[in-house]
This record gives sequence, structure tokens and C-alpha cells, in this order.
Amino acid sequence: MSDEKYYEMLWNCESCGAMGLLAKSQKHCPQCGSAQNPEKRFFPEEGQEVEVQGHQFVGADWHCPYCQSPNGAAASFCGACGGAKDGSKEVKAVTDPAAKTPEPPAPPAAPVASGGFPWFKIILVLLVLVAGFFIVRFLWKSDEPLKVVALNWSREVDIERFAAVEESKWCNELPAGANVVHRAMEEKGKKKVPDGETCKDIRIDKRDGTFTKKRECTPKYKETPEMAYKCRYRVNSWKVVRTDKAQSTQGAEPAWPAPRLYAAGGNIIGNERLASRREVLSVQLQPAKGEVLTCALKPEVWSRLKVGDVVTAKVRASGGADCDELKKR
Ligand SMILES: [Zn+2]
Ligand SMILES: [Zn+2]
Repeated sequence: MSDEKYYEMLWNCESCGAMGLLAKSQKHCPQCGSAQNPEKRFFPEEGQEVEVQGHQFVGADWHCPYCQSPNGAAASFCGACGGAKDGSKEVKAVTDPAAKTPEPPAPPAAPVASGGFPWFKIILVLLVLVAGFFIVRFLWKSDEPLKVVALNWSREVDIERFAAVEESKWCNELPAGANVVHRAMEEKGKKKVPDGETCKDIRIDKRDGTFTKKRECTPKYKETPEMAYKCRYRVNSWKVVRTDKAQSTQGAEPAWPAPRLYAAGGNIIGNERLASRREVLSVQLQPAKGEVLTCALKPEVWSRLKVGDVVTAKVRASGGADCDELKKR
């Protein structure tokens, strides 16, 4: 036998108005003798439950087909009229209203515009017109002949120096050789930690005038700051100290700048080295009418062009060419 606890469901007598009768122990009204209506059984208020000591659950009650009295599942004949159990129906279950989550009140219905001036349609038409304007102006492209008026290039080289720099990082992420000068606790972020659980009792109608409780719990969490040590440290490392730049002078071939390094070599304080380099190649194009356009080009496209060449490219109504679709004629 399980150690499950059983509690009395309640019912009200519909004939004489007696309230809060016990559904398990009182199958008939003690005042007027009317049979209990098991469809109208209900759960007691929280804290008012009456436990049925030593209750042995055998099954749902059955309706006497002759006098409608509810009878325990174990009985073969109606306790009120002696009618046989044959052909009887089991009583229906009642759901605990407390177990349902209350629905939020429905928001007030938006007033439905009807028969009024069709503002909405006018706004929609305006939106379509504005969208159309932008599509034509910024997306519409036409193939246009463009004359190459200048070919420009610029090249840059970064120069790094090995030197002591002061930086700050989480203390467990320090680079090799870091010399910590200061450490302090700081909030690194938030983390969720278990914080007990929320529980509620679900009450289940056993359909024999009793109910049981099932405890349902879900874990709860709370956010707490996650603290960690932040370190300020000095470390010797390579850092960009300056950038040398070379630019096109009309017609000159692209060339990388040749920076002078004060002391070249390995990881020794004061030494310098060349670091990343960048190149920008561009062309200036003169359309039949309008302003000169500038296109950044890939080296293989750029190198095939000469000043005076005519190319075609898709040009937007708003100005600006589609540089990826530039073609030499
Ligand atoms: Zn009664
Ligand atoms: Zn009966």
C-alpha cells in the first residue's frame, strides 16, 4: 500500500442547501437524505482539507442507474435503493481550478474603423511611391561609358617596436612574461546559480469522493555577479609605432615604402620590424556628364588599365558606379 494521503472532496446539497458536506463519508445529505451529485463535487479551500484516515482507494464511484446515488467501487449494489451495479456509469472527474494558471485579462479590443475615411489606404499608396522612388534612385543602374582620367595607388607599411607596454586583462588570461603591477576584484559578468525550487500542490480528483495531492516542483535560479581578478601588467611586446606611406605620383609604378628601421632584430627592447602592409588601388572615371567617379579595384583589373581608356560600368541614378562590374571596351 502506498503512503499516499487522501482528502475529502466536498459537495453542497441541492435539495436543502446544506453546504460543505464530505464527499467520501456523506454520500447522502445528513439533513434531508438527498443523494450526493458527484458531478458537483469540489475541492476545499487551501488549509481546510480533511484527511481520510486509512483510506484504501479501490476505484472511482459509480452512479446508481436507478436512483442516481454515488456508490463506492467495491459495492455491488446501491446503498440507497439496492439496485445492481450492472449498467452503471463511473462518476466524472472534477479539475482543480487552483491548478490552472489564471489567464491575463484580455486587452480591450482595438476600435475597428468602419466606414470612415480610408487613411490607411492613402498611407499605403504613399509608402509604395516612396519605396519606388528609392528603388529607382539607388538601385536602378544603367551601363555607361566612362573615361579613365587617373590611376591612383597608395601603399602603407606598419613599423612595430619591441617595448614595454602596460595592459589590463583578467588575471587568468595573462600573456607569457607579463609583469603584474596591480590586481583587483571586478565583476566579470552574471551567472545563474540554483536558488531552491518553486513548488505547488496539484490536487487530483480520485472520483470516489476523495482527492490526492501531487507536489510539482521546478528549480529556481537567481543571478549573481561573477567576480574575478583583473590584472594590470607590463609586458614587452611588439606594437605599431608608425606607418609609412607611399602614394601615386602621376604615372609612377606602384612601389612599397622603404621605412628606415632604427634597430632591426629580435625581441630586444628598442628594436623595430616591418609589420602588416596594405595597398589601395583606385581609378578615377569621367562619365559623359556628371562628376568624376572613383572605384577601388583589384590589382589584376587595375594593372590592365591606362589613362585614356574607356570602360563601361553600371552607374546608379544617384551617382556612384558598380566597381565590380567594370569592363574594359
Ligand atoms: Zn439536504
Ligand atoms: Zn440506487
